[in-house]
Amino acid sequence: MFSLLLFGPPGVGKGTQAKRLSEEFSVPHISTGDLLRHAVAGGTEVGRKAKALMDAGQLVPDDVMIQIVRDALDSPSVAQGFLLDGFPRTPEQAEALSAIFKQKGIKACRVITFEADTEEIVRRLSSRLSCPNDGFIFNSRTGSLKAGSPCPECGTPLVQRADDSEETVRHRLTVYANKTAPVLEYYEKAGLALHIDATMPIDKVTETIKSLLKEAGVL
Ligand code: AMP
Repeated sequence: MFSLLLFGPPGVGKGTQAKRLSEEFSVPHISTGDLLRHAVAGGTEVGRKAKALMDAGQLVPDDVMIQIVRDALDSPSVAQGFLLDGFPRTPEQAEALSAIFKQKGIKACRVITFEADTEEIVRRLSSRLSCPNDGFIFNSRTGSLKAGSPCPECGTPLVQRADDSEETVRHRLTVYANKTAPVLEYYEKAGLALHIDATMPIDKVTETIKSLLKEAGVL
């Protein structure tokens, strides 16, 4: 089973790589951030609880997140595998995920760890535009697109996420360092972590992930 975790701070390109790998290997991309944004857009109870925390760059409580991931992994669409992006983000979530995997007989094949320095992440995120319809991500620095421009894929006006302002990005990075980075140790100990320099060009990152997975015997 192709079960891959994409791990790393916000803004390192996990979502972009997940979309590519998900298409290439025909496995669903489960992004907990996207699931929460759908819940917010749909006005569900989870969405109402999560919105203020997300806008402030805080983590949504573990029990809510664990239930969301448990439900996502219950779906028949993950039978052949999946890419999990944005989870786990705390040691408690990592423990819960291991328990869910054990219960379902899933073996996490590898944890791809994306690495980039803080200033590069701040630059990337504060110029990031995304499509609220299909989730595609664009950069306002490298092209003529700006907030409100039609998505080149589907025409929906592009937006800057409320949590991509510089101040909130810096806060999200602090939350990452304090709460999420310790999770890496958990996967290092299990011998599952594969490290990748996320500052390389997008195609090079994809290629490197695939060769790391080949070397690890996953592909
Ligand atoms: P992302 O799109 O992955 O950057 O997630 C956006 C926001 O959703 C985060 O800043 C958190 O507020 C929330 N979120 C997503 N995944 C998790 C998680 N595993 N645990 C807690 N909060 C999460």
